[in-house]
Amino acid sequence: MTSTTPTPSAADRPGPEPFTAEDYRVRMDRAAEAAADAGLDGVLVAPGPDLIHLTGYLPVPTERLTVLVLRAGEDPVLVVPTLEAPDAAGSVGGPALSLRNWTDGADPYATVAPLLGATGRFAVSDNTWALHLLGLQQALPDASYVSLTAALPMLRAVKDAHELARLAAAGEAADRAYGEILTVRFAGRRESEVAADLAALLLRFGHSQVDFTVVGSGPNGANPHHEAGERVIEHGDTVVLDFGGLKDGYGSDTTRTVHVGEPSVAEQHVHDVVREAQQAGVEAVRPGAACQDVDRAAREIIEAAGYGDLFIHRTGHGIGVTTHEPPYMIEGEEQPLVPGMCFSVEPGIYLPGRFGVRIEDIVTVTEDGARRFNNTSREMAIVE
Ligand code: ZN
Ligand code: ZN
Ligand code: ZN
Repeated sequence: MTSTTPTPSAADRPGPEPFTAEDYRVRMDRAAEAAADAGLDGVLVAPGPDLIHLTGYLPVPTERLTVLVLRAGEDPVLVVPTLEAPDAAGSVGGPALSLRNWTDGADPYATVAPLLGATGRFAVSDNTWALHLLGLQQALPDASYVSLTAALPMLRAVKDAHELARLAAAGEAADRAYGEILTVRFAGRRESEVAADLAALLLRFGHSQVDFTVVGSGPNGANPHHEAGERVIEHGDTVVLDFGGLKDGYGSDTTRTVHVGEPSVAEQHVHDVVREAQQAGVEAVRPGAACQDVDRAAREIIEAAGYGDLFIHRTGHGIGVTTHEPPYMIEGEEQPLVPGMCFSVEPGIYLPGRFGVRIEDIVTVTEDGARRFNNTSREMAIVE
């Protein structure tokens, strides 16, 4: 079946409904209550993904202390440098926050200390700078601190309907970028040129930020952390394409492995194994299964095919306001899957000096299984 309907550009589509101060207030109250339920006295959040998720406010992290203090039954307080207070107040979540300013020359930790109490136990966001945590420890030597991710792993892991819609839209945009990249020339061009094409496509389909555009051709595909280099892609290469970023504040991350011209029997075989493993991983997703079950299901297929020692990374990672976050689909992670969790399923096989194959979709846990946010063909596409 053919269609001549032109693909609408991102600009033709309505954006998502914006989050409101009330949405943020609900998230902050839920975090404070979760902390209290976990026996903690509150949550301290520095600039970064947790602060974006809880308030929508994204200041650049600096040596000047900005910290959100959440305590059950109390209004959320944002301690903020005076010069940044107008930005904080004007952010979407601003109306839900009580601002506590401190001015250059004052001790910011002395401003925070009375909000915390002398002997409290607090969850601290992972990306809080050591500078600031050490400052707090000095101001409150009898208080104690634990990792927010360790203490409240579900805080960002389970997405609400608005977040799921944004993640789905980001996945759809990435899928459109993939559809277009199959039409560009590969043979005779540098990996970096194809990577630039991918980045431009993500932006064209509505991403505001490109986090990575992996183009791993031939032997470079055997290094899962190879981004894109100056290697000229040749006819006969297998090429790993792994790309993603943020659209309307939520992430995309997908991988397909393509081949320049017809693949060899060996390349096709490895690709078939990875595709089967990825399918098994997705089929293992259901409420109540453990994160490690997803890894086991994918790994079992690759091990049975004799490539177990060439699958050298975990099967997946969470995604949300960042493109890599907990929970992790890895042996030893017993966290049960819950509807609304979103993460990648991305097994791979890496043959050093030869080529690599990886296939990755973002999925969300539904009431009875998984729903994929990436829906392009997982067959090995032939490019020119
Ligand atoms: Zn080949
Ligand atoms: Zn990826
Ligand atoms: Zn990924």
